[in-house]
Amino acid sequence: ANSLFATCGTTIFETMSRLANTHDAVNLGQGFPEGLEPAALVDHLAQCARSGPHQYPSMMGTPSLRQAVAAHEAHYWGTDARPDEVMVTSGATEALAACLFGLIEPGDEVVLIEPLYDSYLPIVRRAGGVPKLVRIEPPHWELPREALAAAFGPRTRLMLLNTPTNPCGKVFDADEMAFVAQLLERHDAIAICDEVYEHLTFDGRRHLSLATLPGMRGRTVKVGSAGKIFSLTGWKVGWVVAEAELLAPIAKAHQYLTFTTAPALQETVAWGLGHLRDYVEGLAGVLERRRDRLAAGLVRAGFDVLPTGGSYFLTADFGGLGFNGDDMTFCRHITQAAGVAAIPVSAFYQGAAPSHFARFCFAKTDDAIDRATGRLEKFF
Ligand code: PMP
Ligand code: GLN
Repeated sequence: ANSLFATCGTTIFETMSRLANTHDAVNLGQGFPEGLEPAALVDHLAQCARSGPHQYPSMMGTPSLRQAVAAHEAHYWGTDARPDEVMVTSGATEALAACLFGLIEPGDEVVLIEPLYDSYLPIVRRAGGVPKLVRIEPPHWELPREALAAAFGPRTRLMLLNTPTNPCGKVFDADEMAFVAQLLERHDAIAICDEVYEHLTFDGRRHLSLATLPGMRGRTVKVGSAGKIFSLTGWKVGWVVAEAELLAPIAKAHQYLTFTTAPALQETVAWGLGHLRDYVEGLAGVLERRRDRLAAGLVRAGFDVLPTGGSYFLTADFGGLGFNGDDMTFCRHITQAAGVAAIPVSAFYQGAAPSHFARFCFAKTDDAIDRATGRLEKFF
């Protein structure tokens, strides 16, 4: 009864969304978009729902979606992956689990950057991996090169790299990525690249796929998410892109996790990747304006807002508000008493963590952002 999953808590996203619902709070906690869903894609799903297919597709994904993902990689990032190097999964969450279960042998060391997305560590541990955590620090979250180099050793099997990052919105730049590539090469390690926010970079920043750096294709597993690309996070369609040798063990894990993903959703996403490029390319601009709108409101309420270069999220320091308590207490308090939900940033750390930052999601309507910041201004 004391297994890893018997003793871990409920995810912070579920916890805070439940609390937000109970208190009718504006939910800027869990990262899901509002008012950004492409209507054409939802209409297309209705068509696919009528026409099918509805039975198990190949465990690797439908041919049309594998083809569309390969074309998407080539078009946006210049990756030369073929459709047979793509495997469709039930969201990036399943993709990450399949990668970690497929690639880690018990005792392998796994380098991770902290703060980190909440599903990484439990799965690394359950797979028998030994986490080596390297912290990036606010406000600019630069890669600490010495510490990263020191985290690699003879037992390093892989690094899990998320860019743009959740929760801090860091977009790793070309120099940082080149440094990572050098370490992977030197230690004969591989990278799982969580690139679910690949299209959401701001202020002229450009997302860089590690796989496109010299020598990195064979060392890289890229993870993507249609839920993020099309602002439909409940659809849970994701994928893995990797050369055959890396993809094979990941596919073996996937066949025992979910095996397949609803084919009507796959066909719809394939259509969207081919037909909705304007939507995909326009989303970052829309979100950049929402980021600025939320940041301005939080500053008016007395927060110190950290810069964010990508993703759905910004982090804000509430130290100047005179609140007495840690970030979990703060986030519960503003949800219950001010009617605005946020996520405590310490949830993205293991052990001792900074306790004066809250993460706010800005992938919301202007109205939701204005209501939330209005409430906070009045409250503090
Ligand atoms: N990785 C990161 C960094 C995320 O933020 C998320 C979504 N919250 C995921 C993976 C999971 O994506 P999906 O919904 O496609 O499973
Ligand atoms: N990725 C989303 C976030 O960071 C939530 C995903 C989830 O609820 N598990 O808020």
